[in-house]
Amino acid sequence: MSGKGQPKTAKYIFVTGGVTSSLGKGIVASSLAKLLQARGLSVTIQKFDPYINIDPGTLNPYEHGECYVTNDGAETDLDLGHYERFLGVPTSQANNITTGRIYNNVITKERRGDYLGKTVQVVPHITDEIKRSILLLGETGEYDIVMTEIGGCVGDIESLPFIEAARQLKWDLGDSNTLFIHLTLIPYLASAGELKTKPTQHSVRQLSQLGIQPDIIVCRTEHSIPQEMRRKIALFCNVSSNDVIESKDAETIYDVPLLMRKEKLDQRALYKLDIYNDRDADLEQWKGFLGRLKNPTEQITIGLVGKYVELKDSYKSIVEAMIHAGAVNETKVNLRWIASETLIDGEYQHKLEGLDGILVAPGFGERGIEGKINAVRYARENKVPFFGICLGMQSAVIEFARNVLGLEDAHSSEMNPDTQNPIIDLMADQKDITNKGGTMRLGAYACKLEKGSLIHQIYGKINIQERHRHRYEFNNSYLERMQAAGMIATGINPDTGLVEAVEIKDHPFFVGVQFHPEYKSTVANPAPLFVHFVRAALKNSIPLMKGTSK
Ligand code: GLN
Repeated sequence: MSGKGQPKTAKYIFVTGGVTSSLGKGIVASSLAKLLQARGLSVTIQKFDPYINIDPGTLNPYEHGECYVTNDGAETDLDLGHYERFLGVPTSQANNITTGRIYNNVITKERRGDYLGKTVQVVPHITDEIKRSILLLGETGEYDIVMTEIGGCVGDIESLPFIEAARQLKWDLGDSNTLFIHLTLIPYLASAGELKTKPTQHSVRQLSQLGIQPDIIVCRTEHSIPQEMRRKIALFCNVSSNDVIESKDAETIYDVPLLMRKEKLDQRALYKLDIYNDRDADLEQWKGFLGRLKNPTEQITIGLVGKYVELKDSYKSIVEAMIHAGAVNETKVNLRWIASETLIDGEYQHKLEGLDGILVAPGFGERGIEGKINAVRYARENKVPFFGICLGMQSAVIEFARNVLGLEDAHSSEMNPDTQNPIIDLMADQKDITNKGGTMRLGAYACKLEKGSLIHQIYGKINIQERHRHRYEFNNSYLERMQAAGMIATGINPDTGLVEAVEIKDHPFFVGVQFHPEYKSTVANPAPLFVHFVRAALKNSIPLMKGTSK
């Protein structure tokens, strides 16, 4: 398993799901990983997605929620965001594998002649490639535990090769090096007033038919599961009662590690993996965060202006970063979701009234762009704290060019390729790119902040690294005119000169960033821009709270 001389030999935990999707496998996996980490173990989590896309980068957010971006520029499932937010450890491309990527690797090898003379098959070639991807993280020698979350539901045709590969790994590595956790649902039938275990029994049976006997069953439920019912689940599913773990609906996802600790999920996992560890999980910092989160002394309302607001998961990392920032400030952040296309001329003002801050979200394409620009205008003119991310920053630049510089047709060439004033334009190295998948400017890039600027004060340092996902950029041929009129480029990529951050002086808080600070916000290290945006909104709200009701 591990290469010679490497310090750590990894053990593998697999998390499968049954009965229905969306049970929160990612949160349960992250919570267990957090508990193991808090006991001093080094843990990473990877996600297998059974779809054919190579990665979710080309998916509409309505299909699969936010596309999360790692430091190394992988476009990944949003669960990786949870892994990072809980563990505070960066993930990478190796942490998210799709069926498409597995097949792509196998077919590339086949064309190269690696299997010369052989018929290439799901078993063993696809399953071997899956096993190789699982072991890759363990072989770095960095981890005691590699957790693998298998997307979808047991019984889905498309996840079968992943389940089979995991089964084989248990056989390869032995019982004490592998652990299977199965997450199921215990539905509550309101009419009968009863919790029902049958779907769980069926789901575990389905898994057993695929050769996997789960070691631990985590039961999602709205109500507490009585002891007797735990015994029943244990008996029918062939596990000990101690290994039936209740996961009751929580007030916040950040409660789940503590709930899982109460259920002794970490103890059971360690016991089954033959890992002796009697350290008590150090969760002081986590508890401090939860305490601040649950006992806010103030509240504010932020308008989140975006194109995909009907599906909250589209902005998962922004929402979570706002929660982290709210906790730091002991402030409850209420998000008012505003569909950008509804902010039409003549009507947008009243829709934005009463907000303590306005965040214009990232996005792609024409729909709703004018509403985003109107939201910026409102924030700028009314001195409402403004935070623009990626397309949000680009909207701020367009708005300023149109309404302050007077370049009426200023636009991004993404939305209007014929504009005479492409203030936002395709990056030079994007011009010859025709493939859509994985070709944006992706991942972490350096940014140098201007000394004394607001963003410099916020980060408290000059050199930062943040993650990107875009094709268009601030058009530097307008830089001088924009700066002379009051929009200052306060963050620049030191290697390319690309504008990464803009500010307007003479405004309580007006910051637009080409990067995505939300991706790096964690419980342990909330993103500074969010923390200070919330602070500015709080300041903005105080005079109003005294007299006016919002
Ligand atoms: N559509 C814009 C671009 O590609 C912004 C992307 C984003 O907001 N992530 O540059």
